[in-house]
Amino acid sequence: MISKQIRQKFLNFFKEKDHKIVPSAPMVTKDDPTLLFTNAGMNQFKEFFLGNSIAKHPRVADTQKCLRVSGKHNDLEEVGKDTYHHTMFEMLGNWSFGDYFKEDAIRWAWELLTEELKIDKESLYVSVFEGSTEDGLEVDKQAYELWKAIVPEDRILLGNKKDNFWEMGDQGPCGPCSEIHVDIRSDAEKAKVPGATLVNQDHPQVVEIWNLVFMQYNRKADGKLEDLPAKHVDTGMGFERLCMVLQGKQSNYDTDIFTPIIREIEQITQCEYGKSGAVGEETDIAVRVIADHIRAVAFSIADGQLPSNTGAGYVIRRILRRAVRYGFTFLNTKEPFMFRLVNILTDTMGDAFPELIEQRQLIENVIKEEEQSFLKTLEQGLVLLDQVVAGTKGKQVDGRKAFELYDTYGFPVDLTALILQEKGYSLDEQSFEAAMQEQKKRSKSASKSTKEDWTVLSDDPEQEFIGYDYLEAQVNLVKYRKV
Ligand code: ATP
Ligand code: MG
Ligand code: MG
Ligand code: MG
Repeated sequence: MISKQIRQKFLNFFKEKDHKIVPSAPMVTKDDPTLLFTNAGMNQFKEFFLGNSIAKHPRVADTQKCLRVSGKHNDLEEVGKDTYHHTMFEMLGNWSFGDYFKEDAIRWAWELLTEELKIDKESLYVSVFEGSTEDGLEVDKQAYELWKAIVPEDRILLGNKKDNFWEMGDQGPCGPCSEIHVDIRSDAEKAKVPGATLVNQDHPQVVEIWNLVFMQYNRKADGKLEDLPAKHVDTGMGFERLCMVLQGKQSNYDTDIFTPIIREIEQITQCEYGKSGAVGEETDIAVRVIADHIRAVAFSIADGQLPSNTGAGYVIRRILRRAVRYGFTFLNTKEPFMFRLVNILTDTMGDAFPELIEQRQLIENVIKEEEQSFLKTLEQGLVLLDQVVAGTKGKQVDGRKAFELYDTYGFPVDLTALILQEKGYSLDEQSFEAAMQEQKKRSKSASKSTKEDWTVLSDDPEQEFIGYDYLEAQVNLVKYRKV
């Protein structure tokens, strides 16, 4: 089954169960001061859970563009190094706003996976919240009993707060959850080690695919839980992981979501992906990082968030620069190349996300300019970093050097830390921070600061007009400031 059909199957399944299929919210959040990017399907429904507004449809399903690169859910470090965490990914979800609760959520999830999508029941494990003394919560007996009616007990595992209590951020709606994990190892491997012991152990072949959250609490600013006005269901299934399972692959990057992009990277850089078969192979990591990051960057730009020096814009710039440097160091790309991946990305995902098609030219232009500007200083910066490392006694590098790389060469500090890590060094973050603060003090009065990160209508002659941005039924003039 190709990925498009899988997405559609999910949506159809819930449509038949009276769910309204709604579009994905933008990946870049605008109205939520607690969140820079959408990190889960439920974000756009937060107000319904809190009881601040009433949902028009009590049952909803969709695929949501998510980005997990900051805040409570930050997977950036894993991306490329493993085969199943992305920065940007699609989260398939179904919701009940004060309508059905645990029983239907559990029954339907099982039905979809095992009957409709025909995943082998023997390869699935489910987990239930064990409770938490800290929050005064007991084991989720109700979920346990419901699972027991359909799954053998040796496949039901109890999980702690980290894995089985879902929270959007430090505050907000939350609740106990039941996760579904799938074991895609060979029978021989399964015979050696029981799958149950590998669940939630970062095993690349025993992965979590679906999380059923039973929203019943709100975490307040003081950390205490209060009951929500009503009980809700919020589920999230990793689309790329589901495709991996259904397409019989061992890596998300081997699904038809990623292979066209990877083929294009191979073409452009003349590399061969997966030659050695080892997950730790540097060139393969670089290819996966690039295939991943182009999605994060392209989808952000399509949502109206351009790379910049502050806020969400800086997060996007960091991701792009990170990818450019992976290419430069491991795939020998000395010219802009990321922008050349936009076409193939648009071809593979434009059906589901037409904003990519509408913004294709803008996305390409912005990425190309960003690449050009970073490539001007990247090589010199890397040389400087080598010198710094050579002159460092011990294994920790002075943060003031990292600040110089940031300030003069445009190296985001996490990129410097990553490169140092590859060389077996760490970074003294405190001295970096101190240097940063000093510079802020110096420049505070000298320059006017940019508070807003959103691209806004502006007549500033220094901004170059590069296109229109269609967002939530509003046409905004997008201007892009060259850096
Ligand atoms: P994991 O434990 O694998 O990091 P999670 O528990 O953090 O996942 P949830 O917050 O429960 O994930 O999100 C719901 C689903 O979204 C997960 O079951 C998984 O299938 C998918 N998912 C989560 N993070 C990612 C990611 N970084 N890339 C791709 N899919 C993801
Ligand atoms: Mg996670
Ligand atoms: Mg998890
Ligand atoms: Mg989870």
